[in-house]
Amino acid sequence: MKAVRIHAPGGPEALTYEDAPPPTPKAGEAVVKVDAAGLNYIDVYFRTGMYKAEYPLTLGMEAGGTVSAVGPNVTDVRVGDKVAYTGIPGAYAEYAAVPAARLVALPPGVSTRQGAAAMLQGMTAHYLACSTYPLKKGDTCLVHAAAGGVGLLLTQIARMRGARVFGTVSTDEKAKLAREAGADEVIIYTRQDFEAEVKRLTDGKGLQVVYDSVGKTTFDKSLNCLAPRGLLALYGQSSGPIGTFDPGLLGAKGSLYLTRPSLNAYIASREELTQRSGELLGWIRDGKLKLRTEFEFPLKDAAEAHRALEGRKTTGKVLLVP
Ligand code: NDP
Repeated sequence: MKAVRIHAPGGPEALTYEDAPPPTPKAGEAVVKVDAAGLNYIDVYFRTGMYKAEYPLTLGMEAGGTVSAVGPNVTDVRVGDKVAYTGIPGAYAEYAAVPAARLVALPPGVSTRQGAAAMLQGMTAHYLACSTYPLKKGDTCLVHAAAGGVGLLLTQIARMRGARVFGTVSTDEKAKLAREAGADEVIIYTRQDFEAEVKRLTDGKGLQVVYDSVGKTTFDKSLNCLAPRGLLALYGQSSGPIGTFDPGLLGAKGSLYLTRPSLNAYIASREELTQRSGELLGWIRDGKLKLRTEFEFPLKDAAEAHRALEGRKTTGKVLLVP
């Protein structure tokens, strides 16, 4: 089968479209014929070597497709089921072997491409807004990179929960998308000082929560945007890691909370995975949550897709199609 692999960390040119051995399912595993794989920032971290792995590595942590084979002791799925999953490396390929307990059956009305687009960024947006800081009416939150993959979904879910939502974006085009997703206020952080804007828009009161996936270039000001006892959910580092941090700053800035959450901890059990994905996919089926999947690349052009994501050229989900 064809797959996109890396043999050593590097730039987008390290992504090699090549023949790889097709997977056979071990006990407890199913093989999924991939209809679409999702591109996520974590793929960039694995490609560059920021996150460690063994090589050759087939990148990709998310896909939607059809079960084509099952190994012994598999009861969760059957051949022919339409499924999606996240958290298992190897999605940039025609076929992927996945522990059956990590697969989610897609409800009627949700396509395998939508499944591929929803699982990683969608469940991240879900846990951030519903579990890390369960937003409620009366809260004001800030979503950085609000036109991105997680950003557009988080903005919509935050609004569904009744919060007032501020979003940051780099361009006017992205600002329009963030507004369409429900952002009450959009700050173009490449031209405007987002800390000053947040203070102005909240009459100096600050925010209950900042969802920060940008990291290095936003972190300090994100802390300054919080109301006393507010929470900074630092869930990514698209601009680079923040480096070392003195917890004393949390006291000095108003008894703040800081968390560095990751999706795996919020879908660790089968029960939490099915509950979270079930609610998310239900919203998509019912039209309450809109996926934006304008950026679709053939799998063989994965390098081009990576360049677009890292170059801040994409909005919403980026899909790779074998
Ligand atoms: P996005 O679609 O959000 O793309 C990244 C966006 O970040 C860009 O479009 C850009 O938006 C913004 N950005 C700001 N500064 C930079 C920079 N220097 N270089 C590149 N981009 C920059 O990606 P994803 O939705 O896939 O992921 C968003 C973040 O969320 C990532 O950091 C990822 O690691 C994290 N994440 C964390 C998870 C978790 O559980 N902890 C799970 C999923 C994702 P703009 O042009 O508007 O500034």
